[in-house]
Amino acid sequence: MKPPAVSATIDLTAPGKQVGRLQFPRISNTGGWAYSFVPVATVANGEGPTVLVTGGNHGDEYEGQIAAQRLVHELRTEQVTGRVIVIPVISATASQANTRLWPSGANFNRSFPGSPDGPPNEQLADFFTRVLFPAADVVIDIHSGGRTGWFIPCSHMHVVENAAQRKAMLEGMLAWGSDYHFLYIDINGTGLLPVEAEDQGKIVITTELGGGGRVPAFVHELAWSGLTNVLRHVGVLEGEVQTRAGRGLSDAVIIDGRDPANYVITEEAGMFEGLLEPGAAVRAGDPVGRLWFPAQLGRDPEVLRAPLDGIVACVRAIPIAEPGDNVFVLGQPIEADALL
Ligand SMILES: [Zn+2]
Repeated sequence: MKPPAVSATIDLTAPGKQVGRLQFPRISNTGGWAYSFVPVATVANGEGPTVLVTGGNHGDEYEGQIAAQRLVHELRTEQVTGRVIVIPVISATASQANTRLWPSGANFNRSFPGSPDGPPNEQLADFFTRVLFPAADVVIDIHSGGRTGWFIPCSHMHVVENAAQRKAMLEGMLAWGSDYHFLYIDINGTGLLPVEAEDQGKIVITTELGGGGRVPAFVHELAWSGLTNVLRHVGVLEGEVQTRAGRGLSDAVIIDGRDPANYVITEEAGMFEGLLEPGAAVRAGDPVGRLWFPAQLGRDPEVLRAPLDGIVACVRAIPIAEPGDNVFVLGQPIEADALL
């Protein structure tokens, strides 16, 4: 296969702290031989695990973008054993535009494994697949609900087949220290960044840190405390690992979203009113939201009901809804031991 179309301006294996960028061809009406830039930093010191930290896989999810920039700012070489590679804003043009997707319409999180001669999003994905993931032991990809969804702030994971990998991912997920965790499935297409990393056997830790178009201060704090605690947990960052028990907190609730019935869509266009917040316990048949029809004044709203018993994990954050839009997500509580 051709070499990657993406290059790095720094040696990703060099010791010490370095800041540079990835760059790949940009097709432009205003200049030939143009490049797109994706800033990258590495902090490396001696023998230890390599951890890849990414934010901005989706452009309008700023929680991880800010925590990862802070990590680059604060991390000192002597605090590290091994290597941390940080890409705070993968989808730079989408981040600037406050959109989930790239201006081309590409969803970076559906671009894997990528290709060196595909469109730019696939060229960048190919660099992750063939250069970054093979170099990494742990991949931390920080998401949220973006503008469209208000997700209960949590770390989450796929329940992967390999038992040792699954246990390491479960422990990494729990090390985020959030009140909730979520087990998710891919109900909406293939080509995800975490799946490619999982298929390469990596310990993959991902999040859904709120969303809804605003980042509350407590979510910034959870992004930072969770990220740094996971880095300590995997042994790349100095300092004592914090546990919920040590912080005087009860065990976190793990919400199992593996039943596809949990992902509720609207079949009609309308204006969505959420009746419950994420974290609410529901019984099957309970109203979770309503859909109003502004062009049909006088029509009764359609009540959107829980299909199963469970806990509300995510509620739509944009009231205007089109047919097929997701309006809420549920899951069922599960004990960590059931995943071992
Ligand atoms: Zn995302």
